[in-house]
This record gives sequence, C-alpha cells and structure tokens, in this order.
Amino acid sequence: MISIYDTVGLEELRRRNAVQPHRMKQFRTAFFKNALRWDEVLATLPDDARSDFLNNIDIQILEQVERYDSEIDGASKLVFKTRDECLVESVILRPKTGRTSLCISSQVGCACACHFCATGKMGFTRNLTAEEILDQVLQASRMVKAEGRTIRNVVFMGMGEPLQNLDALFEALDSLRAPALFNYAGSRLMVSTVGIPHAMEQFSEKYPEVRLAFSLHSARQNVREKLIPLAHKYTLDTLRAVLLKAAHHGKVMIEYLMIAGVNDGEDDFLALKNYLHDIPAHINIISFNEYEGCNLQGTSLAKRRVFANRLKTAGFTTTLRYSLGADISAACGQLVQHKKGSDCL
Ligand code: SF4
Repeated sequence: MISIYDTVGLEELRRRNAVQPHRMKQFRTAFFKNALRWDEVLATLPDDARSDFLNNIDIQILEQVERYDSEIDGASKLVFKTRDECLVESVILRPKTGRTSLCISSQVGCACACHFCATGKMGFTRNLTAEEILDQVLQASRMVKAEGRTIRNVVFMGMGEPLQNLDALFEALDSLRAPALFNYAGSRLMVSTVGIPHAMEQFSEKYPEVRLAFSLHSARQNVREKLIPLAHKYTLDTLRAVLLKAAHHGKVMIEYLMIAGVNDGEDDFLALKNYLHDIPAHINIISFNEYEGCNLQGTSLAKRRVFANRLKTAGFTTTLRYSLGADISAACGQLVQHKKGSDCL
C-alpha cells in the first residue's frame, strides 16, 4: 500500500494510470485542503484510475478510539491509536469567536517532565512520525467539516515537546504549508516549546512566518528550574538571546501559566517585566488546570486579572486566556494517555 502522504509513491500511481497532473491536483485538494470523504476524493479522478487508487492507497494512519465533548465550552478531545498501539490526543477548540483551532501532539509522552504537566508524568515513549502528526489534522478537519466548520489554526501544544522531534515537525510543517496539500498560511500555525535554544534558532530561521510560543512560566531562574527540569540546562539568559533573535521575525508568544504561590507574586511580576522589557512579545496569562496526582493549584481569576492588567499598563500586549476543555481533561497540561501505560506494543 502507498501512504496518502507518500508523494513519490503517489506520483508513480499517477503515471501508471496516466492521470493528468491537473486531475491529481484536484485529487490532492479534495483530500487535504477540502477534507472531503474518500468516495468524493476518488470521484475527482478519471473513472478508469479509481479502482487502482482505491486498492493501493492507505488513507488512515491513526485510528480514532475515543471522543470526549466538553459540556461547558465546545472543546472535543480526540484519542487516537497508532499502529503500534500507542495513544495520543488532539483537541478541537471551538471558541465563541468561531475560529476553530486544533491542538495536536508531536510525541507519545514527553521526556521533559515539567512539574505542572500531566503528559510529563507519563515519561517518553517515542516520537510521532510526520504522517501521524498530519493525520490528526486530517481526521479533525473531516470531523469539523460535518459541522460546517474548518480548522483555522493548528497549534503544536498537545503531548510532547515538538522541538525534540525536529525532523517530523519540519516535515509536517512543510506539508501543512504546501499549497498543493493543506495550504495553511504560516501565521495560522504555531509551535510551542519549553525552550531548547539551538532548535528554536533552527526553527525560527527555517519558518520565520510560523509563530513560536515560548512557555516561560517564570522569569526567575530558581523558580523556573523547579517547574521545568530542562531549565537547569538552558538558562533564562541563554533563552533571552534566542528570543531576541526570533523576535526579528515578528512577535513571540510568551506562555505564562499562573500557579498559586509559585510564580504569581510581586517578585515574579517584576522579573517578568524586566526579562521581556526589550522583546516584542505577546504574553498569554493562562489558568493552571489541576489534575489528579499534582499538588499545584491555579492562581485565582481575580489575581490573574490584576497581574495581566499590570502587564498591560507596563506596555505589554497581554491576553488573559481561559483554557477550554478542562472538564474533559483536554486543557493545557492535562493531556495524558488514560487507557494503557506508556509503552507501545
Ligand atoms: S509542558 Fe510540554 S514539554 Fe513540558 S512535559 Fe508537558 S508536554 Fe512536555
């Protein structure tokens, strides 16, 4: 079988069936961009080519095994099984603005072990392939199409640290941006990282138009080390130099999860203000979503509001974010395999 993501294999199939390039373009657009049903996609081909394509193309890489729909905010968590029986999760976000977004995973588990993150508690099993990353987008696109929606933004903020899976990340970004495939503008894509300097540089140089979200969470080195083990290796000073460079390509998104008594005090505010004073950044203040087995608690909404307003007064573009999908464990930091351990078969 030829994978639908295998461009060389598809080209061979095209030649074998003497399908005109423009018909192949229609086929690809129908499949990737328009997310049509497989029978509708095949209908874009000449009659005599359809059975060869039908019998020889593998169109589904992941199997969707669960779906949880939030009762409070329209988020849906999709649980997918890989062929070696690992579980990964994606989240469809349907905010009131009507701009549907998809949060996707890049790894099974994560090696970074951030203290506040449920995925980090799983440990690391393996990287996802580019096909497994893209199939999350495709299957979610088909699902929301049935609701009359399209996925407007794709964010790499699900399970895993995308910059520790660079080859697959870059391959997936190339396909997502390719006009002949998913055709996303770079500004509709975002990659989130807890901060791996050399990979951030590589990413920013290769994809200047794709947005970079940096999970800062504290501008105090000792506090950040407690939250993010990788902070011992990559210090705030090193990361600041990289952020300054990345900011040449546009505003950097700064993610700041507010945790009661950990990073929401006066010292934390002043350190953040000082750290970002010359970096064009958009700060997102995020609520912390508690989960079983975690002893941290989120900062109150009132306190988050004050913190965000003070940042605005200090001249920073700041948004107070409300995590969607908290009731289905689909909010930031809550994604985790529920059904089996972290080992794949
Ligand atoms: S926050 Fe991101 S990098 Fe840290 S453990 Fe969770 S998934 Fe990994």
